[in-house]
Amino acid sequence: MNDYCEKAKKILPCTDENGYYEIRMESIGGLGANLAGKMLGELGALHMGLNVSSFSSYGSEKKGSPVRAFVRYREGEEEILRNAPVLSPHLLGIFHEAMAKSYPVFAGISAQTQIVLNTRMSGREAAEQYGVQTGTLYCLDAGNLARSCKCRLNMVMLGAMAAASGFLAIEGLEKLGQESIGKKYPDLWKANLAGMEKGYQAVCDRQGFLCGKEGRQVEQLPQSPAGCGLDSMQEPYAGSFKGVIGGMNPAAGNSVQNNLSAGREGFIPVFHPEKCIQCGLCDSTCPDMVFRFRPGIYKGMDTMVNHGPDYQYCKGCLRCVNVCPTQALTKGEE
Ligand code: SF4
Ligand code: SF4
Repeated sequence: MNDYCEKAKKILPCTDENGYYEIRMESIGGLGANLAGKMLGELGALHMGLNVSSFSSYGSEKKGSPVRAFVRYREGEEEILRNAPVLSPHLLGIFHEAMAKSYPVFAGISAQTQIVLNTRMSGREAAEQYGVQTGTLYCLDAGNLARSCKCRLNMVMLGAMAAASGFLAIEGLEKLGQESIGKKYPDLWKANLAGMEKGYQAVCDRQGFLCGKEGRQVEQLPQSPAGCGLDSMQEPYAGSFKGVIGGMNPAAGNSVQNNLSAGREGFIPVFHPEKCIQCGLCDSTCPDMVFRFRPGIYKGMDTMVNHGPDYQYCKGCLRCVNVCPTQALTKGEE
């Protein structure tokens, strides 16, 4: 218990009918949502005097696969008795905008939800683009901010989510980071701290957009208002009656319907055809058969000619860049 605890006694700005404040982060492997969830959990438990649970859900542990991190807070003597994934978040962080094309990242939002979205769009544009009809949307270009500070994207998002929540103390997050990352890697921590502060400031500067029929800019950031409770619990979206018949994955493997761009972390292989010697190493290395080789002419001979990657199927692993012997493929920002 410390300074933050006093503030924490009535700190949760809103809870559901059972006193839970819930956070969900939608991300892909490699962007650090899992660590962000752990930090928010520690912040609540160690620095704010809250009861906390924090866990993540992911399939195969590989870069680019979807990851969801969940955090649950409850005040006072009430234990955390709920272990299910967060379906109706009060605070929602979407680390990777492209996920909105393929996954229901906005599922379960309500008028009380503060949504932090990593995008270059404004709140109004994003609300229109993704059909967000409720909640308050805070948009920031977290990828660019992270690159400019040379830090992890999760730190920028943590700062932004702290600002949007109206009660998560950025000082507490900074202290946590200093105690963990800062002790081992002081230089790295400096960059991450700068990123966290930039994320916080970006939300403060741009403020939020109130989604709905008459969407408008928020005049003031949330300030720990009295409890506002959700009207009712959402029905779970998965279960024995709603699961896909036979447990089949309808989007398995690579097909014309699949779009793997959601797996990218902001980088793509850039193809420079003038340097390509048609060796085919990229094609045999790429795990998703992304390269388009077609019959053509190279150095006066009939052969299969590389027409570069088809970005719909590219998940951005950049193995092809590493293997190309002539730098005909280079790492580029998306
Ligand atoms: S980055 Fe290269 S190797 Fe990886 S999926 Fe894309 S094209 Fe294939
Ligand atoms: S590895 Fe490089 S040089 Fe070889 S085919 Fe691919 S792009 Fe061309």
